[in-house]
Amino acid sequence: MKIFKDKHTLQKEILKTKGISFVPTMGGLHEGHISLIKQSKKTKLKTLVSIFVNPKQFNKKSDFKSYPRNTKKDIKQLKKLKINYLYIPTFKDIYGFKPKKKVFLDKFSKKLCGKFRKGHFEGVLNVVNRFIEIIKPRYIFLGKKDYQQLYLIKKHIEKRKIKSKIVECKTIRENNGIACSSRNSNLNKNQIKIASNIFYYLRNLKKKIKKNNNLFKVNKIKEDLRNLGATKIDYLENYNTKSFKKIKKLNKKFNLFFAYYIKNTRLIDNI
Ligand code: AMP
Repeated sequence: MKIFKDKHTLQKEILKTKGISFVPTMGGLHEGHISLIKQSKKTKLKTLVSIFVNPKQFNKKSDFKSYPRNTKKDIKQLKKLKINYLYIPTFKDIYGFKPKKKVFLDKFSKKLCGKFRKGHFEGVLNVVNRFIEIIKPRYIFLGKKDYQQLYLIKKHIEKRKIKSKIVECKTIRENNGIACSSRNSNLNKNQIKIASNIFYYLRNLKKKIKKNNNLFKVNKIKEDLRNLGATKIDYLENYNTKSFKKIKKLNKKFNLFFAYYIKNTRLIDNI
């Protein structure tokens, strides 16, 4: 595994390859990241993983500061996985140039997380646009856990006629149902139990809603979530995952999208 901290040396190396399968991450690696990497390795192209905690996508400084980082452990894990390249850029390496393409921000960026984390998706698209320009990956592996992010990156790629292909990867969960997330390491045992109870409650609720449309009473559900231990709920909404339209007839295909806090930790998921 070769490690790069500078885009010019990385680009020189990439030129020698037949193409790159790219897995962007913010580190704090877990089984979700690992499943993306394993899928990337199946392409037979060289796999490049990046670790960059992008300050521009955090709307609160305190959240950026407390975001879990463990680069030493990440490097060990990535070596074991036998990836080809690891890119750990500095802020200047990413933001010290003007990208050729402008970011395209679909209107869906104003919903869900976009409503509660001002500037978040602008920051995500900004960094992804730059990574694409530096790496020009053939494939980019993204998780459905961050479905809104995945959708917006796809829209940007379509609109800007970028040649990279997005590979959508399923959400990996812990045995207790919670979606693997770097932020889980900020939860204590009791808080993990709360997150697990909330997952099962919402999963059962979705099943019931499919049978009986009348059950989607958001305020009542939010109250139940608070009783289960959620400190604050940002949103709980249903959307069709292809069109991102709200579904009126809930016997049709939809996902429940939710974001909530347990104390200071914000968790998002969709089921
Ligand atoms: P992050 O490091 O949180 O920015 O995530 C990097 C990539 O891993 C993104 O494409 C995420 O959607 C994906 N990812 C994060 N958690 C999971 C998970 N539990 N299952 C699958 N993919 C995930």
